[in-house]
Amino acid sequence: MNKAKVNQEINLADYNDVWVIAEQNEGKIHPVTIELTGEGRRLADTLGKRLAVIVSGADVEDEARKLLHYGADTVFYISHPLLKDFSTEGYALSISELILEKKPEIVLIGATSIGRDIAPRIAGKVGTGLTADCTKLEVDETDHKLLQTRPAFGGNLMATIVCPRNRPQMSTVRPGVMEKAAFIPNPDGRLEIFIPNLKEEDIRTVLMKKVKSDRKKVNLIDAKVIVSGGRGLKSPEGFTLIRALAEKVNGEVGSSRAAVDAGWIEHLHQVGQTGTTVRPDLYIACGISGAIQHLAGMSESKYIVAINKDPNAPIFKVCDFGIVGDLNEVIPAMIESIDKNGS
Ligand code: FAD
Repeated sequence: MNKAKVNQEINLADYNDVWVIAEQNEGKIHPVTIELTGEGRRLADTLGKRLAVIVSGADVEDEARKLLHYGADTVFYISHPLLKDFSTEGYALSISELILEKKPEIVLIGATSIGRDIAPRIAGKVGTGLTADCTKLEVDETDHKLLQTRPAFGGNLMATIVCPRNRPQMSTVRPGVMEKAAFIPNPDGRLEIFIPNLKEEDIRTVLMKKVKSDRKKVNLIDAKVIVSGGRGLKSPEGFTLIRALAEKVNGEVGSSRAAVDAGWIEHLHQVGQTGTTVRPDLYIACGISGAIQHLAGMSESKYIVAINKDPNAPIFKVCDFGIVGDLNEVIPAMIESIDKNGS
């Protein structure tokens, strides 16, 4: 494989197209891939460039082909028996090889555990920079700079970062931040197969066995309704009330970081800058003040309802419907009303 191009002068004009690195596990495509494909299409159209989605694996050609239905001009399927199971080295090496050969201008990767693992290694191998956890992406049409915005200084300000001298411009984006691309029934893109120059000795880890977690799945990202609890619950038992309301409205249980740090609920439920970014149709915040780091993860919700006993709580500035009151009275009253009226 070519050596990394760190500190070498490069000709920016040699770099074209917008790429999305897809994530698949046993052929199942991670939803962040569809979100990034939507965002990648928008950026590619703004720049007048083509959009490619990159899928790595073995025996997943059919799944790779399906991604053409989300608006990619090309799906590059990096196919190799050594890519059957994820390995940091195998995936990072083969994606880097394709990047060095095809020279994309922009590369987007989901900020999942796998994305966070391979993105910096790919950036290192191809000699470019990486902006992690972006919440907004724009392009400067005059010089094709990718304007990568992400929270900085503990979420107290938003920083826009550019990568002016190196290519590709690489960003990771957290799941749930961008809107999913729409399904196109009759796409006209095409699939190209790339066989990487990968050898067994390139991969230093051995997968002994896969163990499925028996923890209950918490799917905040796809939830249409989320009922979240914060420090105002006062104790872990407070979540009994939150769960009861969530059950009535067919929702998932979310939480603020204060409730997680207090040990009242697992981190899997945390919404916000260092938790999950969500955009449900309805977000009910109970006993949550509305700190900027919490808002960073839920302010894109369609409707926000806040229950807080402090009329000056910042959450009331972002909510559509605010109830000033004690959650121990308001939530049981809501449940009673739902039971009575059926909605
Ligand atoms: P508080 O701010 O203490 O608010 C509790 C609220 O409950 C108050 O408004 C109070 O009026 C109300 N209340 C009390 N009793 C009742 C009652 N009986 N009925 C109704 N209301 C009541 N936070 C996150 O949530 N998610 C993150 O991902 C996150 N990431 C962070 C990352 C960094 C780098 C940093 C520095 C902070 C982060 N935080 C995050 C923490 C954040 O700054 C806040 O500390 C946290 O969100 C506060 O949680 P809270 O609203 O539950 O608690």
